[in-house]
Amino acid sequence: MDNQGQKMLESAQSIINKTARKLGYKPSIVDRLIEPEMIHEFTFRVRMDNGEVKLFKGWRIQHNNALGPYKGGIRFHPDTTREEVQALATLMTIKCSVAGLPYGGAKGGVIVDPKKLSETELERLSKRYAEKIAPFIGEDVDVPAPDVNTNPKIMSWMNDEYQKIIGKKSPAAFTGKPFDQGGSLGRTEATGRGGVIVLKSLISKLNSQFSILNFQSNPKSQLSNKKNENLNIENSLKISNFKLKIPQHPTIAVQGFGNVGYYFAKIAHDERFKIVAVSDSKGGVYVKEGLSPEKTLECKKEKGSVAGCYCKGSVCDVRYGKPVSNEALLELPVDVLVPAALENVINEKNMDKIQAKVIVEMANGPITEEAYEYLVKKGVVIVPDVLANSGGVTVSYLEWVQGKQRYWWSEEEVNKKLEEMILKAFEIIWNSSVKKKIPLKQAAFEVAVERIVKAL
Ligand code: NAD
Repeated sequence: MDNQGQKMLESAQSIINKTARKLGYKPSIVDRLIEPEMIHEFTFRVRMDNGEVKLFKGWRIQHNNALGPYKGGIRFHPDTTREEVQALATLMTIKCSVAGLPYGGAKGGVIVDPKKLSETELERLSKRYAEKIAPFIGEDVDVPAPDVNTNPKIMSWMNDEYQKIIGKKSPAAFTGKPFDQGGSLGRTEATGRGGVIVLKSLISKLNSQFSILNFQSNPKSQLSNKKNENLNIENSLKISNFKLKIPQHPTIAVQGFGNVGYYFAKIAHDERFKIVAVSDSKGGVYVKEGLSPEKTLECKKEKGSVAGCYCKGSVCDVRYGKPVSNEALLELPVDVLVPAALENVINEKNMDKIQAKVIVEMANGPITEEAYEYLVKKGVVIVPDVLANSGGVTVSYLEWVQGKQRYWWSEEEVNKKLEEMILKAFEIIWNSSVKKKIPLKQAAFEVAVERIVKAL
């Protein structure tokens, strides 16, 4: 049994369990929130280019559909396990609820290293997987999307196969498709964009709250000027769970430079945040004065990895920075840390070395339960994955709505709707966190669980 997946599953189940009990729900309801409704486990055969036939193992796990059709990505990874897929399906149920979407949660996975397959082998594998899940998915039943190592092209192969099997067009059965095949503009960047919107909003909340707290301890503070008379000081007296001040343009380290990590870094850089370090599976770079994510991506395409790409402004030159390992990146002296690669990377081994004041969980489950408890006690503000990376599923929802209506919006319209929806989700969780004096993650799970139980 894989430890990483098992750990992630235990931690997802444990927080749901604690939350539901705290809210006073009966054990039978708690069980329904924890146990998946359906676990589809199967093997399937794929012909390799040399004529050999290989057997692959895969899953589609449908966790809960109280709020609407199951929704969740499909992961291709050599180390994926049933426990990992189940944990991710469970978190999807919570995430869709946090994001205020009419969806339940699911996840798919195949044990495979897609980097070792040719393009045609990958296409055949994707189609065989789609054939296996076809009987239990559909636009009003279960709507898959991309995840680690899957992308719009893979979604279009799967959607083609699915439509062939059901004998009709179904533009809302998969999301994350290429735009010319019923995808949505803005979907590719959506997860990173959503994370930056949440971070910006968090910084402004933290800073205005810090100013209020400062004012309370120092009545002569400059805050007593006219401009701030409007601040609701009485309300702020209740606030004590956040006492951080973050620079308006903070320094940020991003682990993972794939879809989520790259777009988070690029959009944050466009907002004049200072991205000082990025990494991919082969290692990373640290440029103290801030690097250019776009140039770094160009360099990565040339070299095959970001390691060695010290791209300040418009030039890449080794004089600007130094190499950093994936482990060391997490321990850099930055304002904001963004794990955007794999799960459990912040754990009991490195938790005491984390220097960031804010962690934005862009990957799913990047912090173990133990490390989470430790960091929260230390005063680190953690934006939980179920909120931070919900921009992806939110635009998947917008793609699904467009597909069902056969009416497509401009990128501007999609981005505007994403911003409105994710800010609304953030606002509800922030307010609940402040009101109840609980961490954002606890607030997110409480909001989500209450909505699901109401629907049950
Ligand atoms: P991706 O495959 O596009 O990129 C993954 C990145 O992580 C790559 O840069 C890879 O080199 C790097 N990586 C792999 N192993 C690593 C390691 N050991 N150390 C450091 N970096 C490593 O995947 P993605 O879509 O960007 O997903 C990243 C995370 O975000 C996953 O946890 C995924 O579940 C989550 N997520 C993705 C989306 C989405 O819309 N793509 C939405 C929500 C959550």
